[in-house]
This record gives sequence, C-alpha cells and structure tokens, in this order.
Amino acid sequence: MVQPRENLDSVRHHHRAAVELKRATDDLPSWIAGQDLTEADLPYIHELLQKSFGDWVEQSEGFPWLSGWPIALVHPDYTEVAVTGASANVGLPVSWRREAAGPTATGMALESCRPALLRAEEHEHSALRSRDTLAVPIFSRSTGFVCAAIVCSAPAGAAGAGELKLLQAAALHFKSCLYRRFEHLFVEGQLHASNRARREDRRKDRLLEIMRRMNDHIDVENVLAEVFSSLEQMYPTCRTNLFLSQDYSSINERVQPLAFHHQDMDLCWRAFMDGERREDGIGEFRRIAFPLAGKQGVYGVLRLDLSAEPFDDLDMRFVSTLTSGAGTAFEKARMHEQANVLIGELRLINELTQRLNSSLRLSDTIQFATSELMSIFNADFCFIMQLDMQLNHFSVISSNVPELNNDVFSIDYGFCGVMLATKEPIILSDYHSATPVRSRLLESTRSRSLIASPLLLNGEVIGAIMVTHRQPNHFSYENYKLLQVLSAHIGLAVSNSSLHAEVRRMVITDNLTGLYARHYLNERIQRKQEKDASGSLIVVDIDHFKKINDTYGHQVGDAILIQVSSIIRSAIRESDIAARWGGEELAIYLPQLSLDQTLKVAERIRSRVEEETAPKVTVSCGVSEWSAGDERISVESLFYRADMALYEAKHQGRNCVTVG
Ligand code: GH3
Ligand code: MG
Ligand code: MG
Repeated sequence: MVQPRENLDSVRHHHRAAVELKRATDDLPSWIAGQDLTEADLPYIHELLQKSFGDWVEQSEGFPWLSGWPIALVHPDYTEVAVTGASANVGLPVSWRREAAGPTATGMALESCRPALLRAEEHEHSALRSRDTLAVPIFSRSTGFVCAAIVCSAPAGAAGAGELKLLQAAALHFKSCLYRRFEHLFVEGQLHASNRARREDRRKDRLLEIMRRMNDHIDVENVLAEVFSSLEQMYPTCRTNLFLSQDYSSINERVQPLAFHHQDMDLCWRAFMDGERREDGIGEFRRIAFPLAGKQGVYGVLRLDLSAEPFDDLDMRFVSTLTSGAGTAFEKARMHEQANVLIGELRLINELTQRLNSSLRLSDTIQFATSELMSIFNADFCFIMQLDMQLNHFSVISSNVPELNNDVFSIDYGFCGVMLATKEPIILSDYHSATPVRSRLLESTRSRSLIASPLLLNGEVIGAIMVTHRQPNHFSYENYKLLQVLSAHIGLAVSNSSLHAEVRRMVITDNLTGLYARHYLNERIQRKQEKDASGSLIVVDIDHFKKINDTYGHQVGDAILIQVSSIIRSAIRESDIAARWGGEELAIYLPQLSLDQTLKVAERIRSRVEEETAPKVTVSCGVSEWSAGDERISVESLFYRADMALYEAKHQGRNCVTVG
C-alpha cells in the first residue's frame, strides 16, 4: 500500500537533489547551460540516457517510494533503455511496444507529451490488464521536445493522481541527472578539443622556436644537433637517427650514411626515394622515416624508433614540419659551408700561385709547395717527384723526410707509375686494407692514407705529388679534389722553374767547352771584388792555334779546345771559376788564392796540356792578382794585367807562365 508520508519524503528528496544539481550547473559558464539536446541527437543518446538513469537510481536509493514498483526508461523510438525491478514479470515491456494493441501510457506520454495513468481495466492488451501503468515524458530543457519517458507499472488499483505526481517528481530528478551528464560530456568534449588546441599551440610555439634557432646556425653540425635535441625533449624514450645520402662525416654518432644495400634500411630507402613519410612496425617496433628535404633535393632520412612512445597525428605533423624545416636549414648550412670551402680554396690557390711565381728557383718553389701542402691537408708526409725521361726514373726533388730526398724510382713503380700511365689523381683510404700497388714511400713512412696527383704540363706527366698520413681515412674527397687543383699550379711553377734554370744555364755556359761564358765570369769577379780581400786570374791562350786549324781542320781545333777546357776543369777547385774568354782564350778566376799558389795552378795546366793533348798543343798563361789594398780594383784592370803578362809569355817563346 502507498504510504503518503513516504511519498512526500520522496518528492522532497527528488526536489532537493534537483535543486542541488541546478546550483552546480549554475556555476558553469552560461554558454554551457545554454547548450541542449536536439532531435538530431536522438539516435545517439541511448548511452547517455542509460547512464543518467543509473545515476538517478543510485541517488534514489534508500527512499522506499512507489513501493518498489518496476520503473523503466523508454527512448522515443520505443526501445527500452533501462529498467528497475522485475519489469518483465509484470508485462511492462508490452507497454512500449508500438504494435501493442490499443492505447498505452507510454504511447500517450511519448506522443501526447503529457503524464498518463492508465488503469488496469483500461488496457486493451491482455498482458497489461492486471496492472496500472503510469508514464511521464521527459522534456529537453530548452528545446522542449520529448527525449524519453519514464514508465512505471503498479498493481491494479494501486496508482492514483498522487502516484503520478510522485513519478513526475522522479522524472524531474532524472532530468537533472541527465543534464548533469550531458554537460559533463559536453565539457569533456570541449576540454578535449581545447587540450588538443593547447597542445598544438605549444607545438607550434616550439616549432617556431626550433626553426628560428636552426636558421640561426650556419654550420651543419649545429643544425643537426638542434634537430636531435628538440626531438629528445619532445620524445624522450624514442630513438632518433639521421641517415645522410651525402658524403658528409658528422661528429654526431647518430648521423650515419644512408646505406642502400642494407636490408634494415628499406624503410628509409623508400622514404628517401619517394620524398614521402614512410612507416612500419607496430607498438614498440613502430618506426617512422621522414625525408630530410630542402628546396633542391632530398639529403637524407630522419628515422624515429618510437619504442611505444605515444605518437598521434599531431606528433606526426610536428615532426614532419620539423624535418622539412631542418632540411631547408641543412641545405642552407651545407651551401654556406661549401661556399666557404670554395672561397678558402680560391684564396689558397691565389696565395700559393703568387708565392710559387715569386720565386723562379726550383728548390725554393718545391720547398715552399711541400710545406704548404703539409699544412693545408694536415698531412704527415709530402713528396714532390720529378720525372726524368732520359734516365727513365722519378726522383724525389722535395719532401719533409731528408733521407728520402733524391730517392729514385723506376717509371713503372708504385703510385707514380700508376699516375704516369693514367694521368689521373689517386685517393687511398687505407694502404693496409687495400694495396693496389706496393709503395716504398708509404711503407718507409708507415703511412696509410694517401692523396696523390700527377704534375702535368701540356697534358704530359712531368712529375707527381704524394701527400700521406699515418692514420687511415685521413683525407676527404674534398682534399683529393683540392690537391688536383693545386697540383696544376704547382706543376706549372715547377716547370717554369726548371725552364728558367735551363735557360739560365744555357745563357751562362759556353756551348762548345761547357765552361762559363765571359759575361758570367765578369759578373762573378765583380761580386767577389765587392766582398773578398784578394783573388787572382789566369788567362790561357793556345799557342799557334791557327796552325792547328790549318793543319787538321776546325773540327780538330774544336776538339783541342774541349780537351784543354777539361784539363783546366780538373786542375782547379770547385770554388774557382773557369770561362771561355773568347776564341781560343780561356780564363780562370781563383778567389782568395795567393800568387804563389796561382802560379802553381797555371804551371800545372801548362804542363798537363803539353802532356795530355793530342794532337799536341801548348799554352801560354798570363797571371794577375788583386788585393784590397790596391789603388784601383776592377775586372778590366785585372784582365788588362793578365793580358799583358800573356803577351809577355808569347814574347818569351810561348809554353810558359808569366805574371803581370
Ligand atoms: P798565338 O796565339 O800563339 O800567337 O798564335 P795563334 O795562331 O793562336 O794566333 P791568334 O790568337 O791570332 O789566332 C787565334 C786563332 O784561333 C784564330 C782562329 O782561327 C782560331 N780560333 C778562334 N776560336 C776558335 C774556335 O772556336 N775553334 C777553332 N777551331 N778555332 C778557333
Ligand atoms: Mg789568341
Ligand atoms: Mg793563340
């Protein structure tokens, strides 16, 4: 039976709960309170209704209202959403079957939108005849359409207007529960969206900051370091590697070459070829490869091994943008570095050629080139070889290893032999692991790395340069290219110097006798007179030379001249200077030699000519000397006095020595 007192308590309880909820929702921003369900939401609100009904049942516990009669919540599409008590036993579900014959309280509540009480005898369907049915519509709060109905089944004759009121209060309470959930859902959705927006904002800020920092760096290493540190901060547990397709050796161990043949690199390879992001694996094996692309090409691939790090579409976008920014920064830095290298090389070439051309002495040129090459390439050893086609060998004309200077190799030996055959430069990363030819220079210096270049003149090999280091892999490809450029300049400088030396030798040497020319003797005496304290001169004239010519012919005369010259050469010291003074007259200057000693030399020459020449000739010698105390010191006066002495010798009957 219905207890009026309990019913009143129940009404109060439900009313209080509704007021509390209203207060709670009042605190929410008004725009949320303004949100409402619409009819379009109906197909999707089953779960919301079900959970709200659960809330309502929970909150109503302990209040013995409506005597524990079964209560159901029905969706406007006439499906049961939730139910309390044993509704099936009392035939309640029939009440919300559309096909149920005759009017039902549920139908009246849902269709006529008003509370309905249908007594047992008013039911047409036999299953409902034994019970009274009460139904109350639940209206949406602002749009005012029916979004559900609460239906209650009571024993026949037990329900009246009071019970219907009670059910209406319960419906009000339920509605509060419904809207609280609705707002919660709504706020949750909003919160999710705003969290996402906030996360994205943070990422954008971060991205902007990274990009700015990356673009501040003009060296590749710093750009790469920036990429790694940003990713590390964002995804601490994930492993990041960068595979570069370019020939670039980084100090960062996470940067490796993109190895196309490696099976493990298939993913990266695909990303690199397509220039698109590629992904494989799941869970802790999930990996994503992002191409590192700039405006002019793809430079490599950034691979993330996620190892179960949460990674959604926002992260994907973040890393994609980061790598494309990094690609551009990398490209810029790379171009900057290359331009710098180029400028450096040009400056170097300019300086080197200027220095090389400023000296025409071969020994200066190659010595300078050797020390420059050592410092440019930070090398341990440097060798410059010259090719001698007559003697069929290469000889070391300059190096930083004194005992190897002047070392000689046959033209088909070692790397010089290879370069002579191919006219191409060589780069060798490790002589130990790959020995294309044996090399004495590499072995004796225990070198392992090599760059070498032939010295070419008009396309012909005239020599070679070898630059070595004891460490393997010391030289880069850029080093190799630079040596090639430098060797063209060094080759030119070496050939210029050799040419110059040759011309000079020709100019200061007499062709027939191989002795110095007269002008060179004059120059040398003049310089000696500026520095030395004394010196002497012997003038040698062949006696009756005209007769020799007349008797044997000019060619024999020439041969005699050559014989006399070589006797003179062998009779004097290294520091003495023998020259052809003119015709068949020869002269010897003896620096800082006393008159006595000079006379001995002249006498030795005279007697040896007499003994050693064939056909036999004799010579007359005139000797003169000078010393610092003399009144007039000049080359002319020295010669004049020697000439006078010679004249005297001729006068005395030839084949003798006299002093002027
Ligand atoms: P002397 O000096 O003893 O007085 O007699 P001489 O016959 O040597 O006389 P002179 O100095 O007048 O003649 C020098 C000759 O040497 C003239 C020239 O025919 C010859 N002569 C000069 N230069 C050369 C040369 O390069 N080769 C040859 N075969 N003969 C030369
Ligand atoms: Mg003469
Ligand atoms: Mg003569």
